[in-house]
Amino acid sequence: MNDREPRTEPGFDQFLARLRVEPDPAPPARYGAYSSYARIFERLESLRRRGARVECIGRSTGGEPMWAVRLGESERPRLRVLYFANLHAQEFIGVEAALATLERAAERIAARDPRYDGVEVTGVPTANPDGYLQVVRDLAAGRPRFRRKNLQGVDLNRNFAEGYRSDWLPRLLPQIYNPGAGPLSEPETAALDRLFARRFDRALSFHSFGGWIFWPWATSRRPSPDDDRLRALATAMQSRQARPYRAVQLGRWSRFFRAGGAEIDHLHGRHGTLALLMEVSHGGRSVGRPSTWLDPFAWFNPLDVRGEVENVVEAALALAESPKTQGTLLEPPAAGR
Ligand SMILES: [Zn+2]
Repeated sequence: MNDREPRTEPGFDQFLARLRVEPDPAPPARYGAYSSYARIFERLESLRRRGARVECIGRSTGGEPMWAVRLGESERPRLRVLYFANLHAQEFIGVEAALATLERAAERIAARDPRYDGVEVTGVPTANPDGYLQVVRDLAAGRPRFRRKNLQGVDLNRNFAEGYRSDWLPRLLPQIYNPGAGPLSEPETAALDRLFARRFDRALSFHSFGGWIFWPWATSRRPSPDDDRLRALATAMQSRQARPYRAVQLGRWSRFFRAGGAEIDHLHGRHGTLALLMEVSHGGRSVGRPSTWLDPFAWFNPLDVRGEVENVVEAALALAESPKTQGTLLEPPAAGR
């Protein structure tokens, strides 16, 4: 089958039917308005009813289908933008931000907003469905845990091929940053890499927390040949925020932090995409709410879901709505490197 051909996915109906007969719990209300696992896909279904295309891009370690939704022009797009979230299991605010971004884009496309002429928007709201389900079950059972990785205990955002294992953090803190058996060893990262190979002009990966916008490289202080363009996109994003985040090349964020095998470097270095990462919100730990002090879910996810999402949706859409300058300056290497 040609991997580049979108198709209508009959499996999505069966998947939704399964979720409807065995609904998972929603996170308890005291955490804020976060979606249950099923709710993520009901929101995709609602986009599909308005003309979006949904397709399965692979299966997770635990066998869950991974879904991408595609909006707008797909015949000969002049600009292709990708949004994805949830590489890290407990970062639910990123999933909410991704879904809201896709829904806002769909509204504008339906209203024939000229900024979307020839723009194709693709979204993967959860790149770690097993992790999302684990967290929902933890919270429903009243047992919040620190959950970052996939079902095999691999940090998906250290498992991409570009810069794989080039930093020392996985050696120092393998419990947190386990990069896996080899580059793209995990079904989730392999599925994303196949999607990335369709060549997006721009991409945004949602994480939490900290209120940052990052761009490549994550493995060094050396700027990318496209540094000016990446910085211009980050600035365009900031200019659309009521409470602007700070923005910096990830490799320059801290003297000591480097991230090998991260999604932004992989998208940029291997697939020539102008890729950015957003650390949504400042988390939800609050001095006045003792229940949040030792609760990892609360550290990563703010209580005010709607307000935080509203602060990032227009910023995210800057990637779809800012005029394209030209192709990237970076010549992606031939496949097989
Ligand atoms: Zn993260």
